Amino acid sequence: MRLLRTLLLLLCTLSPPLLSQMKIFDTPLSPRIANYTIHAELHPESETVTGREAITWRNTTTRAVSTLQFHLYLNAFANNQSTFMKESRGRNRGFSSGTKQEEWGYINVSRMNLWTGANLLPSLAYIHPDDENADDRTVAEVKLPKPCGPAETIRVDVEFTSKLPRVFARSGFAEGGFFMVAQWFPKIGVLQPDGWNCHEYHSNSEFFADFGVYDVQISVPRDYVVAANGTLVGKRRANSTMTYQYHQEDVHDFVWAADPRFITRHGVFHNDSTGGDVDITIFTYRTNETYAPVHLDAARHALAYFQEWFGVYPYRTLTIVDPPANARGAGGMEYPAFFTTMTIWWLPKGIHVSAMVTIHEFGHNYFQGMLASNEFEEAWLDEGINSYAELKSMERYYGTPGSYIDFLGLKMDGVTFHRSSYITSPNLDRVVEKSWLYAPGQYSRMSYSKPALLLRTLEGIVGQETMARIMKTYFQEWKFKHPRTENFIAVANRVAKQDLSWYFAQVLYGTGSLDYAVESVRTEPLTGKAGFVGSDSTLRFVDEKRKGQFESVIEVVRKGTVIVPVDVLFVFDDGNRIRETWDGKREWREFRFRSASRLSYAVVDPDRKLVLDTDMRNNSRRMHEERRGVWRVALELLYRVQSLLQHLTFFS
Ligand SMILES: [Zn+2]
Repeated sequence: MRLLRTLLLLLCTLSPPLLSQMKIFDTPLSPRIANYTIHAELHPESETVTGREAITWRNTTTRAVSTLQFHLYLNAFANNQSTFMKESRGRNRGFSSGTKQEEWGYINVSRMNLWTGANLLPSLAYIHPDDENADDRTVAEVKLPKPCGPAETIRVDVEFTSKLPRVFARSGFAEGGFFMVAQWFPKIGVLQPDGWNCHEYHSNSEFFADFGVYDVQISVPRDYVVAANGTLVGKRRANSTMTYQYHQEDVHDFVWAADPRFITRHGVFHNDSTGGDVDITIFTYRTNETYAPVHLDAARHALAYFQEWFGVYPYRTLTIVDPPANARGAGGMEYPAFFTTMTIWWLPKGIHVSAMVTIHEFGHNYFQGMLASNEFEEAWLDEGINSYAELKSMERYYGTPGSYIDFLGLKMDGVTFHRSSYITSPNLDRVVEKSWLYAPGQYSRMSYSKPALLLRTLEGIVGQETMARIMKTYFQEWKFKHPRTENFIAVANRVAKQDLSWYFAQVLYGTGSLDYAVESVRTEPLTGKAGFVGSDSTLRFVDEKRKGQFESVIEVVRKGTVIVPVDVLFVFDDGNRIRETWDGKREWREFRFRSASRLSYAVVDPDRKLVLDTDMRNNSRRMHEERRGVWRVALELLYRVQSLLQHLTFFS
């Protein structure tokens, strides 16, 4: 391997431009379609990054292409006319944009040449594939002098200046010296068989890109500390600057943060599966120092769970940035082998927000990072599956029922957390929808909460063991391949050895909701015949008593349109229990029992498998209603704490 590597490196130094961009270190895990060599320099005083990049890109489709498309994300922050700003009205994940001149941002491309020398810049045009907004400049298209054929590789050399906005949505600067340099370089779109997939930067959407190898040099003033999602392979000191060189393979993005005030803490995860260690580094501040162990420990545990449940974490590093209090809009965001978390130091320890954000963002390494589905078009495949994995991780980490909150006797788990968001508006949109087309407020419900609940419900339907195999098989078969919803469904059907399409059709593609209820219960002494029986000469009055026998009648109803088989449990005063399964196909069903005891209560979905059920308060009914006041008050309190949590945590 070492010999091969040396040979390849030698080849790179001798050969013309294409190969010089590709230093192959490890066996490729991904197709490595879009590869970047970037030299970037941070100018803190003007909040800008100047950069030169060489993009080596391969046409993996079967058709020649005569244009290239690029994301220029930072133009979302150029003015209030961009699609991002119009959609968000300057607010995103709870934070607002500034309006002063220095608070806006943009990206300016000053040079774009092919490796042949052909100048592409004169043909550059801003396009708006998702809407009619001619003022949006987040996607640019250039014309190639001659088409790039199938399997052909080209190199584009670009020079650019990125003016960072004041951070409110992921990228930017904050007073005091913090820079979150994300979505910052001209990035090529994804060429698919039907053409370019290169969406505008939307308020409610994340990203989609091809995998590649990144070699990035970052120059900063010497007192700055840099965090990046690559392995540090070298550094060079000049007069007033320090240049850090990073290398990362099989990722689809490169991100970095810088701040002279950063302090670092380290952890190691021993990777039993690969034999190699993962170096975990958190970049934080003196004010948040005591929380560093919380984040490091949560990350180490998440690494262990995800390796067990899904597969190997293949990167050598994991970088965590804990942004300062005036840059929370940069927090709770995922990038490959890198994420930003958040520390809310004044929250009581029993409210597990910091660990939750760290575990959630770590989880994205699998769904956003390695599976890398198209988040513009099917966000649930990332956020939703990750939210399901997050709630399972939190259960494992903290135990139930207090996995999210365990404070002053109040306990909340992930199911309750996601339910309290979902059930407030379960019917406006379907899960599989383009992210920017959801009704206001629905993106988080449909991309996070409902998918987490529908997967947990699926776990109830197929059983935990089968569900675990579905998830692992899905990851193993589709990592580095950008799966779509139908790929997930196909894996689920195959692994479960049953056609589950009826379920997915309703919960992923339908807007209906699921709600089973015990509508009425009745139990009374069973009587025999009573009244006049017979006729004419045989007519006689009878009143047959049947001592010690009771009849119980229970009406169970389906109030929602989603049809899923459901268990119903009947418990009698003598302790006898009867369990039945109802297919739920008709709107209601009556259950009738004769027994030696009165019915005590009936409960639909007694094991709480169907956590998608939008109203669980109607799931049971007792013959003798107990006081519900205390329970109601507790529930009310729980929801209040939950909404406080949602205001505190803005993570992606
Ligand atoms: Zn997320």
